[in-house]
Amino acid sequence: MRVMMIAGNWKMNTTVSEAIALVNEMRPGLDEIDNVDKVICPPFVSLAAVSELIKGSSIKLGAQNIYFEEKGAYTGEISPIMLAELCEFVIIGHSERRQYFNETGEIVNKKVRSALAVGLKPILCIGEKLAENEAGRTEEVVTEQLRSSLAGLDYQSSLIIAYEPVWAIGTGKAATGEQANETIGLIRQTISQKYGKGAAQELRILYGGSVTADNTTEFMQQPEIDGALVGGASLKAEQFLSIVRQTSAIKGRLSG
Ligand code: PEP
Repeated sequence: MRVMMIAGNWKMNTTVSEAIALVNEMRPGLDEIDNVDKVICPPFVSLAAVSELIKGSSIKLGAQNIYFEEKGAYTGEISPIMLAELCEFVIIGHSERRQYFNETGEIVNKKVRSALAVGLKPILCIGEKLAENEAGRTEEVVTEQLRSSLAGLDYQSSLIIAYEPVWAIGTGKAATGEQANETIGLIRQTISQKYGKGAAQELRILYGGSVTADNTTEFMQQPEIDGALVGGASLKAEQFLSIVRQTSAIKGRLSG
């Protein structure tokens, strides 16, 4: 059984008070839906306040990044054990981190390991750039990203993968449902080769890249897609709710 997941990546948006207001706006509607995992990922500074606010709610909390060391002289960084007290999920290897903060496959691998070591569930992001897509290199790129991110790691059922073509993130130019389904199918095959069929059937793989209330149906109707990682549209309560509601109606639960 793969439970669908809609995760909202708020990126570097919302102050603490704005985050609280947004959660208060979303919470009643989100709590009405119980067959989809609903995850929100506000900025670090709001995690403590939001974790208090969603106590008793079915909304789950995630962070947008992590550092791989447990503690020490790493000014400005946030460690796995700090996050483990506050949230259940953590986004790792988002393309904005790879692009603006030079995160390599090796760093992403260390982050995935450090998250798993403290029981955090990684939402591992992979995806090709526009030029790579146009050169027909999508499969090669995502396979290499998977290889480096998961190098030396045993399969863990708490892992989630988000396929996010870089050209579709924040651009308003989403992939088509068929394109996303095809690449996610390839990712599942790679997982099957590395970890076996059972793992591939169990693993949740999300699509991310300009998902909105208007195109959700197109993605959720695809057999390989187990949900979405949503950026811009997750900052509008009505949009995010609509995406979750549509996902719930189309396939609240998938059988693997
Ligand atoms: C993201 O930040 O992961 C994302 C998919 O953003 P957007 O939905 O805005 O394209």
